[in-house]
Amino acid sequence: MGMELSRSVAGKVVLVTGAGSGMGRATAEVFAAEGALVALTDLAGSPIEDIAAGLRARGHQARAWVLDVSDAAAIRAVVPEVAAAFGGLDVLVNNAGVSSFCPIDDDDHYELVWDRAVAVLLTAHQRMIRAALPFLRQSSSPRIVNIASTEALGATARNSPYAAAKAGVTGLTRALAVELGKEGITVNAICPGPIATGMTEKVSDADKAVYAQRRTALRRYGLPEEVAHMTLSLCLPAASYITGVTIPVDGGLMARNA
Ligand code: NAD
Repeated sequence: MGMELSRSVAGKVVLVTGAGSGMGRATAEVFAAEGALVALTDLAGSPIEDIAAGLRARGHQARAWVLDVSDAAAIRAVVPEVAAAFGGLDVLVNNAGVSSFCPIDDDDHYELVWDRAVAVLLTAHQRMIRAALPFLRQSSSPRIVNIASTEALGATARNSPYAAAKAGVTGLTRALAVELGKEGITVNAICPGPIATGMTEKVSDADKAVYAQRRTALRRYGLPEEVAHMTLSLCLPAASYITGVTIPVDGGLMARNA
């Protein structure tokens, strides 16, 4: 196996789920700025067409595809379309997500929230990976990055569907890293901490500041770009010996006791 220790993703084809907002959008923009060919996917009604057009206006290569990751048939249709349009697929970033708070004794909603969390945050990841594999196998530096959460490592009350699904993502990441390692396909997970995105926009700036002061080492919320840059780092051809890891990008939240 030839090693390609390049520090550039220029010319690589990258598919990002949930690219219409927050970290997914930042990831698409960071990869595009580095010369990658970026497929932005998200729900119908999300601004991916506009984001892709904006990237093209700045001279980057980007296209948008509507893709609800809870729709298995849509995944099977869209992933090959992306590969056909861009001539392959080198990087898959499983990022789409929904927050899924629900107390364990809320019998009216728990099953629904659980099913949705598992479908969008976990089942979708394996389906995206299975659809992408035939194309990743043709790549000289195939990369999979799964966005989990610090909720996979420590937990918040009333967030068990989310925490369980995200912990599942870290397990899936390790298992597939082991299974696909002989093919040179790396599979890694990132655990973002508190990041200012669509998911956390309902948290007021004042509450964000209090939480960040109390919980993180860096005493602030993170920016979506700060997660996107870790994703980029894991996807460099030179990152060829990093696989099966779960990396917090959390401002030191998991490191801090008091
Ligand atoms: P966000 O709400 O800004 O973006 C999430 C995107 O996913 C949205 O554009 C949304 O339309 C899309 N999406 C939701 N359901 C989808 C579906 N079924 N199919 C396709 N797209 C779908 O949130 P974000 O914070 O950027 O979230 C990105 C990832 O980061 C998620 O997996 C989330 O769980 C994770 N995360 C977020 C934080 C945080 O503090 N913001 C912390 C840890 C982990």
